[in-house]
Amino acid sequence: MPFPRNLPAMAQRTVRFPDLPAAREARRVAAALQAAGHSAFLVGGCVRDALLGRSPKDFDVATSALPAEVEALFPRTLPVGRAFGVVVVVGPGGISTEVATFRSDVGVADGRHPAAVRFSSPDEDARRRDFTVNALFADPATGAVHDAVGGLADLRARVVRAIGNPAERFREDALRMLRAVRFAATLDFALDPATAVAIRASIPLLARVSAERIGQELVRTFAEAPRAGRALDLLRDTGLLAATLPEIDALAGCEQPPEFHPEGDAYAHTRLMLDDLPPPARRDPRLALAVLFHDVGKPPAHRLRRMPDGSLRHAFPGHAALGADIALDILLHRLRRPADDASAVAAMVRRHMHLAEVRNMRPATLRRFLSAPTMPLDLELMRLDTLHSTGDFASWNFLKAGYDAIRAEPRLPPRWVRGDDLLAMGMPPGPALGAFLDRLFDRQLEGRETDRDALLAWARRHLPGPR
Ligand code: ATP
Ligand code: MG
Repeated sequence: MPFPRNLPAMAQRTVRFPDLPAAREARRVAAALQAAGHSAFLVGGCVRDALLGRSPKDFDVATSALPAEVEALFPRTLPVGRAFGVVVVVGPGGISTEVATFRSDVGVADGRHPAAVRFSSPDEDARRRDFTVNALFADPATGAVHDAVGGLADLRARVVRAIGNPAERFREDALRMLRAVRFAATLDFALDPATAVAIRASIPLLARVSAERIGQELVRTFAEAPRAGRALDLLRDTGLLAATLPEIDALAGCEQPPEFHPEGDAYAHTRLMLDDLPPPARRDPRLALAVLFHDVGKPPAHRLRRMPDGSLRHAFPGHAALGADIALDILLHRLRRPADDASAVAAMVRRHMHLAEVRNMRPATLRRFLSAPTMPLDLELMRLDTLHSTGDFASWNFLKAGYDAIRAEPRLPPRWVRGDDLLAMGMPPGPALGAFLDRLFDRQLEGRETDRDALLAWARRHLPGPR
């Protein structure tokens, strides 16, 4: 019998996992499960990414073994999500692999957590996952891919498609709507039309999702999408932007003076800048957020200003400071981002309009401006802002030259010998100590001593005596 006829319509293909420690460890864990008589696969994002030639973030295993059986098989495990059948296996070198028992989620009542799970088969486990391209299983030894949901075809067609009935799947877990857009944006895939329609119809369900999880998805979307401007469009077209960031949605239709902004309204301007962010591997998420929020103060600051010739012009007095306050509030209180990141982003938003003044700044003011810890990101924000508006780089070039000049200034290395060392040698505090420290530092800078120990020895020999 050459061909069993009753196999499910299961496309087969093989995947090669990258030769990374985490991948080797996940394959070892899965192979050990198989050797013990269980079925086990690498699953989810790692199969998807390896098939696409992307570097996977983590390598997860799914198995028929029950949590207790997994725990019995490996010396070090952590019961992270035991109730859902998830056990972390800690391998050599501390590399951990998530091992999840095949399961179906039952009775997802609150749109957040399954009321219960039922351990089940690989195909059922595939069907409880969110998108077809996330539900591929691969044999750890052969790399043979098992596809119960048409994930391979969607991977080839570059489509993010909910598994089963999309509206039902979003009712089970509303976060999946944001995940759909994140995967479409980061993989540069299309959103399956039925999935997109279901998102639009399910927007109110987002109210059930915690602020942190929404914040994490949005930040990852803008940080990881190769074309973050496309991500913005996807969020807007699905209605997710209006639901999560209405202040950014309001940039659409915020008209600007065409002589400064030939590209169009504030939304078009922001989208173009987002598309030109550095590639995700080199992108600081704070820059992505600063670009996203840099003009968020424009809609509320908008005025029509009467010009000398009597005409009216769009103006946005104080929009940078206003936008910084709005961005800080959204990042901290709505999206619950870490305070450090939120204030760094807000400070960049506040500073971005100072570019117009840099050539008139007093040297000390300019120096202080340039000493902002995020100045490389500020410069990139202002470069993109200029590129996608006037195209006049005179001020930007001036600022960049000032920044490069400051960076080129020689910096002094840290001192090898400090006041504490001299006090410990018995030297009394006072001006003589300061003067002796400077002498020691000179010897260090002149290269007369090879290292700290040598300099300490010299100091001991030459310690000024009491007067
Ligand atoms: P990445 O880690 O690159 O964001 P991933 O696909 O690995 O992508 P994870 O969030 O790590 O995503 O989840 C691992 C797998 O678990 C997914 O591929 C998917 O099969 C499943 N999964 C994760 N979150 C959900 C969810 N909310 N609903 C259904 N399935 C999910
Ligand atoms: Mg993952």
